[in-house]
Amino acid sequence: MDFCCGATMAVKIRPLHSDRGMLLTDVPFLVCHTCGNTVVAPSVETQVTLYVHHCETDGVTQASLLDAVSEAEIAEILSTYEPFDSETDPYVTEDQVDHMLDVWNFAAEIGDQHWIDEIKNSLHLLHQVKMHELTQFHFASTSSRF
Ligand SMILES: [Zn+2]
Repeated sequence: MDFCCGATMAVKIRPLHSDRGMLLTDVPFLVCHTCGNTVVAPSVETQVTLYVHHCETDGVTQASLLDAVSEAEIAEILSTYEPFDSETDPYVTEDQVDHMLDVWNFAAEIGDQHWIDEIKNSLHLLHQVKMHELTQFHFASTSSRF
């Protein structure tokens, strides 16, 4: 999944801890800058799963994904997505909100109540992040209004 909260996800390299305690380093993850949702980059997801399984079977406790996936392939992923900046607070773009409203209109048109509920939740989340941004931004100048 490259999209979350109506926006393209960003990429970061991070170690992965498997359920059985195996540590795999140099794994490209996609991160949503709005809700923080994090997934292994889809193009290497299968290799990651297989390699972790392989290491666990062999009793290897730590390895690098670079042993299973070429550096060029990782570089390709890094160049496809925006780098994730963990210093930045969650943010929402106008495009995201517009996109969600478009989807909402479509869901309402076809009368898919389950979908409408999902979109409502997403919009609620976008709104919360947005309010958080505004509160932080205006805090110094407009705090007397609150
Ligand atoms: Zn998200």
